[in-house]
Amino acid sequence: MGLNRFVLAASFVQVIDVAESGMEKTNFLGITKCKLEQLLASLGEKPYRAEQILKWIHHRYHDDFSQMTDISKALRDKLTVIGTIEDPKVVSETISIDGTRKWMMQAGSGSCFETVFIPEENRGTLCVSSQVGCALNCSFCATGQQGFDSDLSTAEIIGQVRIVKKLIEVQEPVHERGITNIVLMGMGEPLLNFDSVLDSVDLMMHDLAYGISKRRVTISTAGVVPAIYRMAGKTDVSLALSLHAPNDEIRNMLVPINRKYPIAQLLEACRHYLGTLGEKRTLTIEYTLIKGVNDQPHHGQELATLLRGFPCKINLIPLNAFPGSKLKRPNNISVRAFQHRLVNAGLSVTVRTTRGEDIQAACGQLAGQLLKRAESSGALPPSGQYPVDDVLRRAL
Ligand code: SAH
Repeated sequence: MGLNRFVLAASFVQVIDVAESGMEKTNFLGITKCKLEQLLASLGEKPYRAEQILKWIHHRYHDDFSQMTDISKALRDKLTVIGTIEDPKVVSETISIDGTRKWMMQAGSGSCFETVFIPEENRGTLCVSSQVGCALNCSFCATGQQGFDSDLSTAEIIGQVRIVKKLIEVQEPVHERGITNIVLMGMGEPLLNFDSVLDSVDLMMHDLAYGISKRRVTISTAGVVPAIYRMAGKTDVSLALSLHAPNDEIRNMLVPINRKYPIAQLLEACRHYLGTLGEKRTLTIEYTLIKGVNDQPHHGQELATLLRGFPCKINLIPLNAFPGSKLKRPNNISVRAFQHRLVNAGLSVTVRTTRGEDIQAACGQLAGQLLKRAESSGALPPSGQYPVDDVLRRAL
């Protein structure tokens, strides 16, 4: 929406009109190279200026157009009139005993969302939020139990990367490994905030912004089938699917959007997307193990049959508990037994190490602070009571 304002502002005079009309300034943090070139063209400027501006914002972390010394004073003045460069506000930071760091940040809506950095031996993963709360109501996820508050803007999504990168790579370069991987596995369903998420991953992967390889930037989805088809041809980011069940009966309970888009349709959509990438790429399958619900030997057999021949690797996530939930994590022996069963069936399987559990930063524990908090029962949602059509109508 912000960009349309720019495109309308086709001359400096009109830009001044925009400023004087009291319209909100647009945050340049969330503008992709392509959109910035369009904007500059509408201001009568050369497209290469986009490169300079992006580097000032994302490489040198400048927040002030007037300091962009390699662009003309006239353009700097225009940009100052119509735009800002603003990170989300950091409200708090918590550090786990295992080194995982969690930040709470404030969105434009006033509600708060969370970002987690997980340093490991040979990589540093940033887990980014795409929405405040989530509408999908997955029964084992703290965010889902809160309900939906608002979408994050592109600036608020990419701002999480910029803030954490500034902190860990610039202020404390000796102590910390940098960001090598980004996963959209924080709060929210990325594919229900489609445009902002696609612009954000564009910036994450673009050399003029964060330059992270497409194999190391991952969108994780609970299974919004039409949006997976929409991704095809628009991006080549890596995809992870929160499957969590070997059949529709169990998945309908755990991930209610499955009642709208069952497993067969979902895997077909993922296969289609992978097919458009034109090279050997695999789908990451996330499977949260929940004691007595989806962790039994016959579930493993069924999962192996379901995924036989599919280009994927499976990531098992032992359930992380959160307040109010009655679901339980299986013990380590059961987790390993489940893994071995799949490996013996020829699948590639890893177990995700739980990180940051003491600060509620592990998968599914992010809760932020919502202004519009929804009712939470902590129980599995009853079949047929899921307003999925309303959610999808709004988002797609
Ligand atoms: N909505 C997206 C992004 C969230 S990603 C999605 O569903 O993929 C967070 C990952 O952690 C998802 O795979 C999610 O299903 C999983 N998860 C959620 N709650 C969890 C919990 N309590 N324990 C372990 N994993 C959980």
